[in-house]
Amino acid sequence: MHDFSTVGKVWSKIVEFLDRGFNKIKFFFMIKENSEMLDKNPVIQQMEKMEHEQVVFCHDKETGLKAIIAVHDTTLGPALGGTRMWSYASEMEAITDVLRLSRGMTFKAAISGLELGGGKAVIIGDAKVHKTDALMQKFGEFVDRLAGSYITAEDVGMTTHDMEMVRLKTEHVTGIPQSMGGSGDPSPVTAYGVYMGMKAAAMFKWGSDDLKGKKVAVQGIGHVGENLVKHLTEEGAIVFINDIFMDRMEEVAAKYGATIVEGDEIYSIDMDIYAPCALGATVNDDTLSKLKCAVIAGAANNQLADEEIHGEMVKEMGIVYAPDFLINAGGLINVYSEVKGWSSEKVFEKTREIYNTTLDIFKKAELEDITTHVAAREVALERVAAAKKK
Ligand code: NAD
Repeated sequence: MHDFSTVGKVWSKIVEFLDRGFNKIKFFFMIKENSEMLDKNPVIQQMEKMEHEQVVFCHDKETGLKAIIAVHDTTLGPALGGTRMWSYASEMEAITDVLRLSRGMTFKAAISGLELGGGKAVIIGDAKVHKTDALMQKFGEFVDRLAGSYITAEDVGMTTHDMEMVRLKTEHVTGIPQSMGGSGDPSPVTAYGVYMGMKAAAMFKWGSDDLKGKKVAVQGIGHVGENLVKHLTEEGAIVFINDIFMDRMEEVAAKYGATIVEGDEIYSIDMDIYAPCALGATVNDDTLSKLKCAVIAGAANNQLADEEIHGEMVKEMGIVYAPDFLINAGGLINVYSEVKGWSSEKVFEKTREIYNTTLDIFKKAELEDITTHVAAREVALERVAAAKKK
């Protein structure tokens, strides 16, 4: 006699295998099609596809400034988003980065209920080598020419001092020091929002948002990561930490009683929750073959290497993924407080709302049988579309 449950299991494994293979082929052709498209039409076609309003290329011979400012959407308000300084391998890489990041800012502001649009800027160059006060002031002049449709802030490679330089040339800048009337370092607020999103994910997965005893792997213990570790250890979670700097790991481990995990080992450990707080694209084919977690909730932007394919894979594996642009919005809420004149209490109150919004997104995704990323994106775009109709 046949054992039908075994046959069923084997069959479902075959289907799963074929499905993954099909996804990989689909991914390959998507990349090929995209790169052919980019070769011929690197800017406006991408803008059309992602629905950007305006992209500004800036150059200044004196200071060596080479920057791109992307305004994705201003329906809900001025396009607010940080400036990233990075040694891009090519102009194409810089354009793609600024277009993706600025679109993400529209989603983030919209889903957080802020009266803000999405924008971002990139400066091409090594921040440690090419950045000068004069360069940042020149960048401020270009921001000023946009007359407030774009508001800048800090991102990778930027400091509050740089924002002070920008402020000398334009008032359309946030993230300036508290001593200058600004909102200061946004990281503690970002970490608090991530913590709220993680608790919502726990509630959805396990029916309780108590993180006591849960094994959480925090990858990247920088400004946000360390603050997250603090919240987690205070609640009694068992925390594993991972970073590229051993001295940093030793410092944080000693401070909070966390366990150090080196290198890529972090993906394979026995954990309940994976919290990516370093780089983007760490949820990919390779890591998903190792990860044993039930929840993914972290601060890093663009965690899914491919939003559609890896969003779907995570869903199929039964992992609850808290969309990055939703749960890491605390930093944006913090800089928004500069525009609105909000108190610190109001900032944390608004950031606490991430808990309920995240739960609503999980419920919507379950009901409509879609990925949580798509559910969150739909809610954000519906808000923009509704505002457009007004
Ligand atoms: P950070 O630079 O202070 O910290 C990043 C940490 O990650 C550093 O300690 C770095 O050594 C570590 N790291 C880098 N590469 C790594 C690797 N391969 N493996 C393990 N660790 C690695 O940055 P942050 O401000 O803490 O931000 C963390 C992430 O959250 C970033 O992706 C950022 O874009 C995103 N984010 C930050 C904020 C904010 O308010 N700071 C807001 C939204 C999103």
